[in-house]
Amino acid sequence: MECPKCKAPNGDAEQFCRRCHATLLFKCPSCAATQRHGGTCDKCGVDFAKYGAMLVAQEQTRVSSEREKSVEKAAIWKQIILLPITGGYSLIRFLLNRSRA
Ligand SMILES: [Zn+2]
Ligand SMILES: [Zn+2]
Repeated sequence: MECPKCKAPNGDAEQFCRRCHATLLFKCPSCAATQRHGGTCDKCGVDFAKYGAMLVAQEQTRVSSEREKSVEKAAIWKQIILLPITGGYSLIRFLLNRSRA
């Protein structure tokens, strides 16, 4: 297998060129089939670039949803911390109203 970039000879099982590190063997991120060219998978038709972008997008939505969850958690904690204060305050108000009546 000759490197298409620098024409250096490489073994057939070589995934990257030994001299210039160009990709010689592309591995499909979806079905794990290997082929000599990039672009789309010969086996399952997945577009490598699109698939990669999709994975990145998925990772980003996962991270942002986790961030939202932690904000939600913080809000719940705030409620729990404030509960004795707000609850105690309304109890005092209730007692004051009762003693006034
Ligand atoms: Zn090369
Ligand atoms: Zn594939």
